[in-house]
Amino acid sequence: MQNVPFRKDRLIRKKRHDVHPTRGDWPEPTTCTQCGAVYTKGRWAWEERPPNANETVCPACRRIASNYPAGFVEIRGRFYREHQDEIHNLIKNVEAQQKAARPLERLMNIAENPDHTLVTTTGIHIARRIGESLARAYQGELSFQYADGEKRIRVFWKRD
Ligand SMILES: [Zn+2]
Repeated sequence: MQNVPFRKDRLIRKKRHDVHPTRGDWPEPTTCTQCGAVYTKGRWAWEERPPNANETVCPACRRIASNYPAGFVEIRGRFYREHQDEIHNLIKNVEAQQKAARPLERLMNIAENPDHTLVTTTGIHIARRIGESLARAYQGELSFQYADGEKRIRVFWKRD
């Protein structure tokens, strides 16, 4: 008998804690107060702000504000250290292409760690694209691992 209210309560709490939805039920049109992206026709796009648009903070800006990436790219090996500037340019070019077409796909950070470099992103597609672009340009070893029902991705690229 006590099982039902308990489960109901858990469901409500779970829903409330999901502050990073990939698909939302925003009314159309809605605009992001941070980056100006517009939610219309079921997707986020770079469009002129419609009059009387609803306002929110888009999922990408929320991820950036709370430092909660959806994509992780781990880069390892000597090749990176010897071609760091070139590889940073490649990553930024991938971001420019991805972000232009999909406002929620953005680069967050490139962090240098003693044994690897960690690139973080707001979306899973851009993380995968960065990995694929590295492998296309420089070969090396590439692999992916999805998590959280494919809402997050970890990409591994290595070249010695
Ligand atoms: Zn935004």
